Amino acid sequence: MGVAAAAGKAARHIYDSQNTMEYRLKLIISEGGPVVEDDAVSNAYDHIGNFRDYFKAKLGRDSIDNNGMDIICNVHFGTKYNNAFFNGKEITLGDGDGAIFSSFARSLDVIAHELGHGVVQWTSNFEYRNQSGALNEHFADVFGTVITQYVEKSAADDADWLIGDEVMGPKLYGEALRCMASPGTAYDNELMGKDPQPDHMRDIYRGPNDNGGVHINSGIMNKAFYLAARELETENAALIWYTALQNLWPTATFNDAVAQIVKATQLLIKRERVRSGSTQKVRAAFKEVGLPAKDETSIPNTPTAKITQF
Ligand SMILES: [Zn+2]
Repeated sequence: MGVAAAAGKAARHIYDSQNTMEYRLKLIISEGGPVVEDDAVSNAYDHIGNFRDYFKAKLGRDSIDNNGMDIICNVHFGTKYNNAFFNGKEITLGDGDGAIFSSFARSLDVIAHELGHGVVQWTSNFEYRNQSGALNEHFADVFGTVITQYVEKSAADDADWLIGDEVMGPKLYGEALRCMASPGTAYDNELMGKDPQPDHMRDIYRGPNDNGGVHINSGIMNKAFYLAARELETENAALIWYTALQNLWPTATFNDAVAQIVKATQLLIKRERVRSGSTQKVRAAFKEVGLPAKDETSIPNTPTAKITQF
């Protein structure tokens, strides 16, 4: 038996990397501190607050680790840095290069996505490669879109279901990084190429790039979540997915996730948290994307990445 760490207060701390690659270089604002001028700092602070408050109010989870851990964020990381990531302890946001991407701090779905990787780390802890890695990306996108819909007071049928649309640079207005409603359609342009996400198991990517397609094959699961949310309402689908996440494990496959999501639905019906008939709607959503699948598609020697990226 380990000794449980003292519960924290889930306080926010936003640091400025001042365009270096240093973490926690200069503390700009801590929980309840005075408003600051810097938009990256104030946006990150607000978005992290939305993430934390959603999990507490709707899913009964106390911060990333469910033990009130403080949430640390670094903004202005690197020079023209074109990414955002969670490194196991804190989230870090680049300013973008001003061509493809603008500041990552602008986007609630990006920040909720990164913090969602934190929730995954403290629950299923999916290995960041192959299908388990795509599940890691998928659940992060689920939290990104669910929290955005909650804050914008939109519903499954009028939400945009886009991830990263707010961080596209000036030449890419209207594009996004991923589209959960229609994977494979998020972008198609000279700067970025074409969105490679499949929306069905028949088109699953089996190559070694992207740690075995973690940002590619997540499209299949994303589409199933979208279809389920259209039928059940986003908030109910989120509760089901979050319940299942707590019973998944590091090497879980898509088929494992489907089985746990169906089980979670049944459990929540029994507890009268979701409506009878939800199980069949969840199964139908997965059937639309070819899940559960007959064969497994993991690439045996794909390395596991330590850092989960946007
Ligand atoms: Zn990610």
